[in-house]
Amino acid sequence: MRKPATIEHLYLDFDGFFASVEQQRDPRLRGRPVGVVPYEGGRTCIIACSKEAKAYGVKNVMMVDEARRICRDLVLVPQKPDLYRRAHNALLAEIASVIPIDTVKSIDELACTLDESQRSDPSGLAMRIKRTIRYNIGATITCSIGFAANRHLAKIAGGTQKPDGLTIWHPHLMPGPLLKVPLEDIPGVGRRMAKRLAGHRVSTTGHLLELAPKQMRAIWRNVTGERLWYALHGYAIESPASGRAMFGHARVLPPDARSLDAAYQVARLLLTKAARRMRRADYYCSGLMLWLRFYDDDWSTMQRLPQVNDDQAVLAALATMWEQMRAAVGPKVRVMRVGVTLCDLTPATARQLDMLLNDDHDRQKWEAVGAAIDGLNARFGRTVASLGPWLPPAGGNVGGKISFTRIPAAEDFQ
Ligand SMILES: [Mg+2]
Repeated sequence: MRKPATIEHLYLDFDGFFASVEQQRDPRLRGRPVGVVPYEGGRTCIIACSKEAKAYGVKNVMMVDEARRICRDLVLVPQKPDLYRRAHNALLAEIASVIPIDTVKSIDELACTLDESQRSDPSGLAMRIKRTIRYNIGATITCSIGFAANRHLAKIAGGTQKPDGLTIWHPHLMPGPLLKVPLEDIPGVGRRMAKRLAGHRVSTTGHLLELAPKQMRAIWRNVTGERLWYALHGYAIESPASGRAMFGHARVLPPDARSLDAAYQVARLLLTKAARRMRRADYYCSGLMLWLRFYDDDWSTMQRLPQVNDDQAVLAALATMWEQMRAAVGPKVRVMRVGVTLCDLTPATARQLDMLLNDDHDRQKWEAVGAAIDGLNARFGRTVASLGPWLPPAGGNVGGKISFTRIPAAEDFQ
């Protein structure tokens, strides 16, 4: 495998994205600790916070009561998914005016490949990106940028200095700066894998780097471990661009199917269909987004997944997200529209890295089940077999597919 002698990739991650967009929108919020919540009032949790709030120790997914206890001045702002989507599109357009964007990893992360001149002047490139955001969008939205031989290292580099960071990991500096990164913070390790690694006497990133590729493969119990070895050691391991970034479906609910329970059945159905399309196109996803429109508000959330393509994995994630949403918004809301999106796609042939791992045996089993179900449905019609209840969708046919490109479009919120 090729081992680049210079930096080849950029990874950009916006700092506290939702909260900084809120501060950009409302100058009164600037410089103040801001927590974005899914819904106004009630018992709910923080889904994003500003750097001022982080300085107090407020964290994402913290309950509001607790966040208020540690930060009395915390300003709570209900989330505005449409605003964040518009900000995302505007920011992408600005960045793309400086450098082509390879991959949009999520609403606040993206990656680029460097050309010859960009490789020789990464600081200049980063400054041009930061400057265009500052002048053309606003000064409160900042990003942290990492450069490295491959995208994985660039992402880790970018995460080491936040907010408004710039980190350049030239191959000749490696692995020095990587050794300072806590093992759990390495994408592709995480807390669960760190536990398993501890059983193999690997408790630091330094220990991890001392392993051989074959040992990593054995610990991970699949090729992911070996691929992570090549990534961390600075080899060129990028998968080709996926060509499309999302599969999704959305649906307006008829008046008699607007309870949370009825909407959940529709969401399951939409997600099963989206997963089936994703498998047909031979992709895996590592993110699931759920979008809901109520009478007078929106709610959306995204959950990261290990790279998966089976119904069981995505439906289990949906169940979890649904419970969180239900706890946040209360049981009485009426759902006007529901949408699900599978994102962060990877071609099946290039499945790699971010798989989380100790469920891998189960995962393969569920994938086999999914393939069998698809086979049955292909032979006998659309919904002969499915996991869990497959109720006829309220209001009849599930309708035409809405294929989101990158981030759901404005009409999907109407
Ligand atoms: Mg971010």
